[in-house]
Amino acid sequence: MEFTVSTESFDLLCIGGGSGGLACAQRAAEYGAKVVVIEAGRLGGTCVNVGCVPKKVMWNAAGVALALADAGEYGFNASPGEEHAPVLDWGLLKRKRDAYVARLNAIYAKNLAAKGVRHIEGMARFVDARSVAVGDRKLTARHIVIATGGEPTLPDLPGASLGITSDGFFELAEQPARVAVVGSGYVACELGSAFQELGSTVELFIRRDHPLTSFDVMLGKSLLREMSAQGITIHPHVAPASLRAQGGKKRLIAEDGREFPDFDVVLWAVGRHARTQALDLAAAGLAADAQGYIATDDFQDTQVPGVHAIGDVTGRAALTPVAIAAGRRLADRLFGGQADRHLDYRLIPTVIFTHPPIGTIGLTEREARALHGDAVKVYVADFVPMYHAVMARKSRTDMKLVCVGPEEKIVGCHIIGAGAEEMLQGFAVALRMGATKRDLDDTVAIHPTSAEELVTMR
Ligand code: FAD
Repeated sequence: MEFTVSTESFDLLCIGGGSGGLACAQRAAEYGAKVVVIEAGRLGGTCVNVGCVPKKVMWNAAGVALALADAGEYGFNASPGEEHAPVLDWGLLKRKRDAYVARLNAIYAKNLAAKGVRHIEGMARFVDARSVAVGDRKLTARHIVIATGGEPTLPDLPGASLGITSDGFFELAEQPARVAVVGSGYVACELGSAFQELGSTVELFIRRDHPLTSFDVMLGKSLLREMSAQGITIHPHVAPASLRAQGGKKRLIAEDGREFPDFDVVLWAVGRHARTQALDLAAAGLAADAQGYIATDDFQDTQVPGVHAIGDVTGRAALTPVAIAAGRRLADRLFGGQADRHLDYRLIPTVIFTHPPIGTIGLTEREARALHGDAVKVYVADFVPMYHAVMARKSRTDMKLVCVGPEEKIVGCHIIGAGAEEMLQGFAVALRMGATKRDLDDTVAIHPTSAEELVTMR
């Protein structure tokens, strides 16, 4: 191909202006590097546009809905179901959410400009290991960072395109009345429970007998109990075979022949894959694995010198703070003179934004027992938080500490219950510092809270 714009050279070129690419670019620019970010879509990537941020807005809205439903129990005289009860205007909520995201897009553009980072809009592909093409423009750089993230996977089934993915969830202009959510990971649980709490009728289709199977088993089982109590119908052991249009509705057909009719929306939440197809990795001497993921070493280096990869595209711990941390540490190493700087992927805390939320870090009980056998000791707590004391609606909290060895070093902490999303960060610091059960026992509780149960377990 002929390049009509003269080639420009940079110290660092980031392909992708999402969580990882932006963090890496800005940190490198702070060290004085000449940096360019190439972004095919909206700045901020998945997290800002179709991930964490709009999802958290919906989680907050669901929290408001739950509080409104509980209001009568606390003596307020207006509750849903009564005359003049508040009704959700989904369209208004979407417009406000979209406006917030647009504000963030603008802030990201402003931040890049303030740091002197060039932002080029377009789809990048490799020309060779040192250069990238964007349209008729060729750019070269000493270091190229692949930060192209991932995208939701549409299952390879007849009629699958009649359904939507998490990207489509954020485009819905109207609230669907009946929703099928297919999947059992955190996206399925988060979006399914947001739909239900905001007033849709949800049916969740899972392959096993409980969701969140890659987490501690207590979490998935407790979430199942809470979702059922909220009115979500759970269909365990369903393997979808196809989706069929049925008038204006959709009918989900399972491999064993069962049929589930009359859905307004079918949401596939069956996983994600890396966005590497457009990159022409072979031109750089690189190859991706079957899901498109790019292998990196501890320092985010690929097998091609000068080409690095961070974030979801590496297939490791697909979370925004992980992409950001990997990107910043890479810039510290390449341009900040910190030769050994890299991300330690152990003990990464994460939250699942359901109601009640889940906070989890470290080894599951099963993983710990496989590694340490009888040296594992587990502490659990199971209670109804005080918020529910004055009401008929009950939601339980479950907590688990996984400890190892005679000193009872805490290697895992798993919480499902109101407040877990804010509780976990501080405990994550404690775990990274090597906290033992005794350290928690020696910490004075904060009363009355749910968090105090974590320092009073026996
Ligand atoms: P991305 O943010 O996906 O950015 C990649 C960017 O690269 C995109 O903007 C894309 O347009 C661009 N791009 C791709 N190919 C090219 C190309 N060839 N040329 C130019 N540009 C290109 N994480 C959390 O930590 N907390 C949460 O609560 C959370 N919730 C989530 C909810 C949902 C529904 C989803 C889908 C994800 C959620 N995540 C959450 C995960 C989080 O969004 C990702 O881990 C994070 O965005 C990864 O950052 P990244 O930089 O690797 O990729």
